[in-house]
Amino acid sequence: MDAISNLPGVGPKMEEKLEGLGIKTIRDLIFYYPRRYDDFTSPRNIAGIRINDEVIIKAEIASIAKAYTKRRWMTLIEATLKDPTGEIKAVWFNQPFLLNILKPGDTWLFAGKVGWDFKKKQKNLAVTQFEKEGKIFAVYPETEGLTSKFLRKILRPIVSDLELGDFMPSDIIESENLISLTDAIKNIHAPENNNKLSQARQRIAYDELFLIALKMLQSKKELTRANGIEIKTDEKILKDFVAKLPYELTNAQRKTAWEIICDLKKSTPMNRLLEGDVGSGKTVVAAMAVLATCHEGYQTVWLAPTEILANQHYQNVAALLKPFSIKVGLFTAANKLADLEKDDLIIGTHALIQKNIEIKNLALIIVDEQHRFGVKQRAYLKKGTVPFPGTVPELVPHFLSMTATPIPRTLALAFYGDLDLSIIDEMPKGRRKIETQIVAPEDREKAYEFIKNQIGSGRQVFVICPLIDEKETINKNLFESDRKSAVAEYEKLSKKIFPEFNVGLLHGKMKSKEKEEVMQKFKNGKINILVSTAVVEVGIDISNATVMMIESAERFGLAQLHQFRGRVGRGIHLSFCFLFSDSWSETTKKRLEAMTTCDSGFELAQIDLDLRGPGEMVGLRQSGLPDLKMASLSDRILIEATRQAAEKVVGEGIEKYPRLLEKYQEFMVTKHLE
Ligand code: ADP
Ligand code: MG
Repeated sequence: MDAISNLPGVGPKMEEKLEGLGIKTIRDLIFYYPRRYDDFTSPRNIAGIRINDEVIIKAEIASIAKAYTKRRWMTLIEATLKDPTGEIKAVWFNQPFLLNILKPGDTWLFAGKVGWDFKKKQKNLAVTQFEKEGKIFAVYPETEGLTSKFLRKILRPIVSDLELGDFMPSDIIESENLISLTDAIKNIHAPENNNKLSQARQRIAYDELFLIALKMLQSKKELTRANGIEIKTDEKILKDFVAKLPYELTNAQRKTAWEIICDLKKSTPMNRLLEGDVGSGKTVVAAMAVLATCHEGYQTVWLAPTEILANQHYQNVAALLKPFSIKVGLFTAANKLADLEKDDLIIGTHALIQKNIEIKNLALIIVDEQHRFGVKQRAYLKKGTVPFPGTVPELVPHFLSMTATPIPRTLALAFYGDLDLSIIDEMPKGRRKIETQIVAPEDREKAYEFIKNQIGSGRQVFVICPLIDEKETINKNLFESDRKSAVAEYEKLSKKIFPEFNVGLLHGKMKSKEKEEVMQKFKNGKINILVSTAVVEVGIDISNATVMMIESAERFGLAQLHQFRGRVGRGIHLSFCFLFSDSWSETTKKRLEAMTTCDSGFELAQIDLDLRGPGEMVGLRQSGLPDLKMASLSDRILIEATRQAAEKVVGEGIEKYPRLLEKYQEFMVTKHLE
């Protein structure tokens, strides 16, 4: 479409400013949405306004004049505005020309903030905008010298002649009661009335979520066209495996294992997410998939997010699979012990995903605590597997992703809608609840005393802090002065509070080798208290740790707090979680209290979603929240509705809707998440 410089009124200077906002073409301008609206359609009575209110009033100018200022270089315009309910003074600085526009006796709409004139002891209105017409005005994200007024002015002629082709299939427009795209864009920039504005927002929000759902379902469909590796699976050996376990599988473990095994037998590649709370026993379920695959002579790769976890899996999984003569190798940056040709199962870190690494017989990839794993990454591990549309791929390995991040179902649809979902919604029998308490500041000493006793009887303790060091608190404000940093806390605990114990420190700025050493020492019991930042959150197993103490707990998401808590209570001893907080807002109180009463990660995630919205959920931010301008990820109804509509389109074949296909391809180019 046309460059922005073709518009009347846009010179080189404005062009540069618009580019600064990402607006290069007229099209960009059309899709540059307002931040909020100033509603001049329902002005308030002067009698009802209070200091600090931002108001819009409709008033007659009773008088207006230049006023005397002490400072010579300033001009001040003062007016008295009145409506049937009362009067208020209005003030403007350095705008003498207003005397030519605002005439006594005229009625205008004025927007501004109500202040207090100390000298005259009366309210005044610092006017920011005045208008003749009672309209709703769009207010845009602005930059220096580029005002909403200017944007409205250059948009006005464009919007009034606007005619956009609508990509949305007409039956969806009809059944979902949507307004046309043209109508929506017109009303987003220049709303006719409040009702039209909300319909316009609804339409744009619908489009955003619909396109995401379409992307998910379309890539799911493309994958079903790819060739997978049919794995016969020997049920006898799986039964044997289950019989040899020192415990009974839970029903949820049986069910999810069965879903996975069924996928492995198919000739299309599995693409599945196994979701289960901390400690719900995902490892053994994944191990069954490994056994099924490797027993048939194929290879499996199991990726862990850190060296520590790769080592831990290597030990645990090798032990589980030992009776079945499955050869297990370890491959990390530090330990390249695996034989990539001969080993059946290779457990490793991302060190495995390199161009020069090839695993010839690869049939299954398991990824622990990593949500996204693109087709391209699969291709690194097994060459010739890039199923781009139009090419016939060779065999694409099955893929199983595992996460303890409890994502409520509707959110999972929006985020991982291209994956099939298996949920372990049940904990193994006999797990003891972790005693969780909110500790008041005056009871801190008691908590330290308690910790002393626990360590005295041989146990170990985690202390989690939100920050690494004091430097990070430079921007702190008055209310955040107590946020704890791991380095400072480590100093305090090791020197002042617990000089008799060994205190260790773990944080994200340490080299992975240093982290490894500290974790190993903690695992071997050489460290009594480990002070750490959030880096400790993923599935580390320290069965002797019984106390999880969390500083500034309000700074973490509930699902994340729950994951920290899951680091203790992994052995035979009764375990405890202490939550400290510096803030006592209503929301904080509600959130932390939920931790003491609820021990399901899923429920906690839902509570947090309702209280704080999706931005705060662990893992989601890292995995890239979709770029939504109008839609909200807490809008369950809209997520469901758009998903269903997209399902129908993909089922019929998107090719049936040429305009939609075009829009979709454009969306994939600009919004591709991987
Ligand atoms: P996560 O789902 O967090 O990865 P793990 O797979 O590490 O959990 O399992 C946590 C612990 O529970 C392990 O020590 C494992 O041996 C044990 N476990 C797994 N399944 C069961 C079960 N059905 N009954 C009892 N213990 C189990
Ligand atoms: Mg795990």
